[in-house]
Amino acid sequence: MKINLDRLENDFNYINSISSTSIGCTRLSYSKEDKKVREYIIKELEMLNAQISIDSVGNIRAKFNPNKSDSKYLMIGSHIDTVYQGGKFDGLTGTLCSLEVLRVFNESKEKLNIPLEFVIFAEEEGSNFGVTMLGSKYMTNKLTLNDLKNLFTKDKVSAYDYIQQMGFEFHPEIDNFIDKEESLAMIELHVEQGGILDKKKMSVGIVESIVGMNTLEVAVKGVSNHAGTTPMDYRKDSLLASAEMIRSMPSLVEDLANAVITVGKIDVKPNSSNVIAEETIFSVDIRDVKQDNIERISDHVNELCERIAKEKNVEVKIKLIGSSKSVKMDQDLIGIIEEEVLLNDINYIRINSGAVHDNAMLNDIIPTAMIFIPSIDGISHSPYEHTKMEDVLIGAEILLNTVNRINRRN
Ligand SMILES: [Zn+2]
Repeated sequence: MKINLDRLENDFNYINSISSTSIGCTRLSYSKEDKKVREYIIKELEMLNAQISIDSVGNIRAKFNPNKSDSKYLMIGSHIDTVYQGGKFDGLTGTLCSLEVLRVFNESKEKLNIPLEFVIFAEEEGSNFGVTMLGSKYMTNKLTLNDLKNLFTKDKVSAYDYIQQMGFEFHPEIDNFIDKEESLAMIELHVEQGGILDKKKMSVGIVESIVGMNTLEVAVKGVSNHAGTTPMDYRKDSLLASAEMIRSMPSLVEDLANAVITVGKIDVKPNSSNVIAEETIFSVDIRDVKQDNIERISDHVNELCERIAKEKNVEVKIKLIGSSKSVKMDQDLIGIIEEEVLLNDINYIRINSGAVHDNAMLNDIIPTAMIFIPSIDGISHSPYEHTKMEDVLIGAEILLNTVNRINRRN
């Protein structure tokens, strides 16, 4: 069995031609760009006679079972949404390679003893409501439709209303949730989004652990006042206090080998050049492979912000708005992928994922594994994100042959 590279390349070109935006790719879940890509992929799945279902939050699942097997489904797939002005490979690579795996099995004489299930997780990037992996959290009962009432777009529309306004019907009674009686395992191919594989000239990374993360929201409240008439020592400046908090955050992780902390989003009110900022809200993203460290750093962020708020005479409220636990990939699946990589003489390493993926949500229910391919210069979530087509091909072949290895074992 062989991946058809021309067909795969055509998919990339076609999808990027219908959904790229002026700078990179802005394909947010539920947007018109997202809908066009969904339509295309669904049409392709229909040609394979896959049994397609779309749940309330927009996760697409397609069961491919040409031999009417009653074995558990092996899941493959990824996501198609991007960050604002993101790249053309994050998510889409695993999605299109998985679609291609289905097509190859469809054409091949290789008998499928285990049926396959293709999946596209909705809203992986969290670009709409600030909460990542919304689709896989819903699919694993870690988030309910009711929870969507407390998540908002930047225009203050709740996720509950927004998703329905964008044309998705809520029908939780018929939604399909991840169930270990029905699903065998999940394998996701993804671009690394870091520079390790590219720097080490490796074609494949077999993921051992996915980092855990906490996302905090820090709201600093001061008093809005005239920038000209308010003496410096009378001010309650929320932005100045926030700047000091943010400036001090890197010191909280400097002694930890794998921990990282990021403030990537800030909102200032009233955001006016001649007014002292009344309220500043910013995010704090904390990640590590060690769960204890994540909790400890989160506590330290709390202490740090409270101390600075006191010194600066402002109020601070901190809440946890998102979290995912650090998880280990399945050793048996890692072994199968490794055998396949060794057999084909491919340069590879075992690697940890610094980005959280949908697989981390499924991991406590079914075995999961991830195959990484290089991102050039480690650039991702950027218009400059790039992966060579020859590496995409290697990844797709490894995915295909891994699926077949599991197929033959069953
Ligand atoms: Zn991704």
